[in-house]
Amino acid sequence: MFENLSDRLERSFKILKGEGKITEINVAETLKDVRRALLDADVNYKVAKSFTDTVKQKALGMNVLTAVKPGQLMVKIVHDELAELMGGEAVGLNLSGRPAVILMSGLQGSGKTTFSGKLANMLKTKEHKNPLLVACDVYRPAAVEQLKVVGGQVGAPVYSEPGNKNVNEIADHAIAEAKARGNDVVIIDTAGRLAVDEEMMDEIESLKNHVNPDETLFVVDSMTGQDAVNTAKEFNDRLDFNGVVLTKLDGDTRGGAALSIRTVVTKPIKFIGTGEKMEAVDVFHPGRMADRILGMGDVVSLVERAQEQFDEEEAKRLQKKIQKNQFDFNDFYNQIQQIKKMGNLKDLASMIPGVGKAIRDVDIDDNAFKGIEAIIQSMTPKERSHPEVLNNSRRQRIAKGSGTNLQEVNRLIKQFDQTRKMMKMVTGSKMAGMMGRMKG
Ligand code: GDP
Repeated sequence: MFENLSDRLERSFKILKGEGKITEINVAETLKDVRRALLDADVNYKVAKSFTDTVKQKALGMNVLTAVKPGQLMVKIVHDELAELMGGEAVGLNLSGRPAVILMSGLQGSGKTTFSGKLANMLKTKEHKNPLLVACDVYRPAAVEQLKVVGGQVGAPVYSEPGNKNVNEIADHAIAEAKARGNDVVIIDTAGRLAVDEEMMDEIESLKNHVNPDETLFVVDSMTGQDAVNTAKEFNDRLDFNGVVLTKLDGDTRGGAALSIRTVVTKPIKFIGTGEKMEAVDVFHPGRMADRILGMGDVVSLVERAQEQFDEEEAKRLQKKIQKNQFDFNDFYNQIQQIKKMGNLKDLASMIPGVGKAIRDVDIDDNAFKGIEAIIQSMTPKERSHPEVLNNSRRQRIAKGSGTNLQEVNRLIKQFDQTRKMMKMVTGSKMAGMMGRMKG
């Protein structure tokens, strides 16, 4: 996710990342590069400009030129500003209604039906809710079937009325049904069109006014780039929605949408979709997304996901090891095994710093880890638990044993070292770590 932008920013920061002297001129140059990177990532022009202006002012205000480590200070300023641009803190759902009614809106193919299922699943497993899915796409029978499939996958009932074309009526009946059956959340999936059209807008606007939902969510495909921002604006003008769901962030997307939408419609991004499976969804955390954009990897999400899906004890043990800098190749290997078990590889792999980058160009299936696994398996127990003993002759032996080559072994060890450092920095007190390093 966001590889392009992250790579571009990384390059821009290269000159500042060192500890050498920098001048006001190369701060300006770097910011020009940052702006170009943002524009290339489909960030709205005005947003990109105001972003770099703010960063420049902050940088000069914080005396970045005389700071001990100006590059790091700049990265921190950019990080915080990115997070701010994407909305500051994570924003939750309003579920106060009895039942709480959530209305989905968005173009056809944006991922509404898929997300309805994902949301039902999240509400069930994390909030112990008992959601009812409602099919209000009255134009495409296939859409109703799809919702039923999704509902079946997550074990949520689906309400539909074959033959009835009046969505307001269907919604009324569904809410009555939810009350009778004890469903505390009602998730209404609606019809989309390929492009914004009046009829669709009228229908969903009327439905919204009729049911007065607790939350109206706008679902948008992040791969549509700048169009996503325009569509968001049109829907917001009509529906005044509460939040955005940004889907398909697992694809080859440029991420500009995440950066611009919040600023253009002033509504928070609440969730992101990262795959087709029902588990491939996350609460949107602006700070973490900024980490990811800056190439720090989304370790916090990874550890959280680990806690959810793996054994909690194991996750805690892992976190402790990371903090004590004892994360070793055994843990690395175990993580890969866990990830393989969990299925949605691409999504998870992208969260692991180093690993994500190592395999991001590979079409990910279980084979993607084969080389890495072979290398780790060729290590002795001592080498796995004490990677610092891996000298050149050991590395050569491992290359031979694993059927890879020295270059690959070196690369993996280097990535592992970086991962270790990064993990420690991110899972420890993030800011304290950064500030400490800045003071030198
Ligand atoms: P709707 O027309 O808005 O209801 O969209 P669907 O839920 O039918 O989604 C359209 C297509 O996008 C389907 O093939 C989904 O599997 C796929 N899709 C939805 N969300 C995601 C996502 O986060 N990542 C990926 N890769 N595919 C997704």
